[in-house]
Amino acid sequence: MTPSLNNAKRLVVKIGSLLLTDGKGQLHTPWMQALAHDLAELAKRGTQCILVSSGAVACGRAIMGLAHADLKLHEKQAAAACGQSQLVEAWRVACGVHGLKVAQMLLTADDTEQRKRYLNARTTLETLLAHNIIPIINENDSVTTQEIRYGDNDRLAARVAAMASADHLVLLSDIDGFYSANPKLDAHAKRLDMIAAITPEIEAMAGGTLDAFSSGGMTTKLAAAKMAVAAGCHMAIAQGAHLRPLTHMMITGECSWFVASQTPLNARKLWIAGAVNVAGKITLDEGAVAALRAGKSLLPAGVVAVQGEFSHGDTVLMQSATGLELGHGISQYSAQETAAILGKQSDAIEVILGYKRANELIHRDDMALKS
Ligand code: GLU
Repeated sequence: MTPSLNNAKRLVVKIGSLLLTDGKGQLHTPWMQALAHDLAELAKRGTQCILVSSGAVACGRAIMGLAHADLKLHEKQAAAACGQSQLVEAWRVACGVHGLKVAQMLLTADDTEQRKRYLNARTTLETLLAHNIIPIINENDSVTTQEIRYGDNDRLAARVAAMASADHLVLLSDIDGFYSANPKLDAHAKRLDMIAAITPEIEAMAGGTLDAFSSGGMTTKLAAAKMAVAAGCHMAIAQGAHLRPLTHMMITGECSWFVASQTPLNARKLWIAGAVNVAGKITLDEGAVAALRAGKSLLPAGVVAVQGEFSHGDTVLMQSATGLELGHGISQYSAQETAAILGKQSDAIEVILGYKRANELIHRDDMALKS
């Protein structure tokens, strides 16, 4: 699968503060509207879009009159609280011009790394996208402490792409791609258009002089690229300064793509298959075993027994009644919840538990079967 925005099913676009604001913290609303125009065109073709937008601190410091260069952590956090609402309101207006609706999601490193919160955030994203709403994501800067911050939205965007099983990620930047050397210093520097593997040579290019001329730095962009391709998502670095930058990128092809060698679904399944800590076992009846082999999800009705202690979001082992290991899956329900709903129809889940997270105990996209 060659990377191309024309084929993108689910796209994450990361936008840095420098593209969004002038030096005084004023938002570039015409640029935002032009980007929204791009998103509207993509939506017409069936591409689902997620934005990761910086700019909260830049906006907020202007509102608070914090002009000094080195903001302290608490000042940044207050500025983010102040600027975030203005930022999302500006996106709401810009997207509204093109008939698009938006929602705000503020994430912390915990949300994407701790299983339960990860599953919740993933479900929220899916629900928003299913309702044709564009999630606008930023780090929850006002509550995150320095130790657990992402600190840069390049990596946050890659985590979001992995969490959403996106197939394409574009980092809009102040440079049109990844260069073999600093093009400002080296006349022979070349943009690399397709990067099939992040080799030590590529790492050496990013680690050198390139950091000097790009705001987020090529090192963090490369770290983001590694996360994205490992999750089966192609990632581009492209120039964001143009109006309608995504259209520009599609027409001219000017950008660098880091190519993923597998699909997001396969990458996710590999990750599930490789889970070392399996917290429990679920035993299936014959009908459920056949359903799984036919590519279906596991419903509580097909479960006959549950063993071990596991929470919602943990990886469990699925086995047949004869003890044959079928594979791993991420359970939507804890061991205790599973014990209460096993053998029951999905309609009964809410009656028994008082809530229903999903119809399935394990969704087919959340399982890796042994062949
Ligand atoms: N979350 C920060 C903000 O909205 C920006 C972080 C970044 O641009 O990498 O201001």
